[in-house]
Amino acid sequence: MPESTRKREVGRGERVLPGVWRLRLPLPWPGVPHCNAWALAAGDGIVLVDTGMHEPGSLGHLERALAQVNLKLEHVRLLVCTHAHSDHYGQAATIVERAGCELWMHPDHEHMTKAAQDPEAAFDRRIEVARQSGVPEEPLRRYAEARRAQGYGIAGLVEPDRDLVPGVEVHTDLGTWTVHETPGHAPSHVCLYQAERRLLISGDHLLGRVSLYYDYGYTPDPAGEFLRSLDVVEVLGARLCLPGHGRTFTDVQAHIEANRTTVHERLGKVHAVIGEGPLTAFEAVPRVYGEAITPMNANWWLSETLCYLRHLEVTGRAERIAGSPERWIALPKP
Ligand SMILES: [Zn+2]
Ligand SMILES: [Zn+2]
Repeated sequence: MPESTRKREVGRGERVLPGVWRLRLPLPWPGVPHCNAWALAAGDGIVLVDTGMHEPGSLGHLERALAQVNLKLEHVRLLVCTHAHSDHYGQAATIVERAGCELWMHPDHEHMTKAAQDPEAAFDRRIEVARQSGVPEEPLRRYAEARRAQGYGIAGLVEPDRDLVPGVEVHTDLGTWTVHETPGHAPSHVCLYQAERRLLISGDHLLGRVSLYYDYGYTPDPAGEFLRSLDVVEVLGARLCLPGHGRTFTDVQAHIEANRTTVHERLGKVHAVIGEGPLTAFEAVPRVYGEAITPMNANWWLSETLCYLRHLEVTGRAERIAGSPERWIALPKP
């Protein structure tokens, strides 16, 4: 992205409720201009939920956003990450060091931490998945270059001091937040819920507009896990959602239903497309999304399509035909 476009984006802080501040932090990604970290009043300091991505100048954006609401990094008593993606975990190492606080995060964070320990191996594995999915050599090379240029967006590897799993409570001035496992978007994803105020910190599980992304290759059925995680937050009955990107929203139930509907629509579309198969995942993508894979959307769409193919397979609606590349064919409904 040209520097002139990026310069306008700076970290901003705003109070959304007494004791709750939204820290809006810029991202270098086209179409996803910023992410949110949430500061929650806790005694003489704050609990910080999520971190923003690590890149040149990113800590300054976080500090600027905090300063706008009269806070600073040294006020952070505890850092909690909703999941181990770079925009939610990227600055964790720096924050933990500066604030001297603990990090709490779900233990299934290997999708990020293992990749960061050995970026070359993780990268090679992604390329192998793409090749196996039928991506031809030329786009594969361009995709590889685009991926390499993106980097990982994390300041350093830091393991959680405490596993953020159900039963763990996060104490703030607003009351206690409970932990709810919501894998699908990422294996390490959790939502935090404050029952008396019916507040949901949703990370990337639930956003103001439907935007589906799943980490492929770490768990058996990410799309199925995501659907089950929608059920998990549905029963909470949240009134106000504090998402990982964009503004807060109130009609939480409608957002859950919109996500569910979209997933089922895309599953139906993928099923219909491979009905005319066998097709590779790469061949299926433009027929599902109406556009060809580019280096920018490659990882996203290919992962999403693979997750739907996998879900159709585990639910008996598709068959994987082994080979290099592997192909998929629809099965009639059992
Ligand atoms: Zn994410
Ligand atoms: Zn995110």
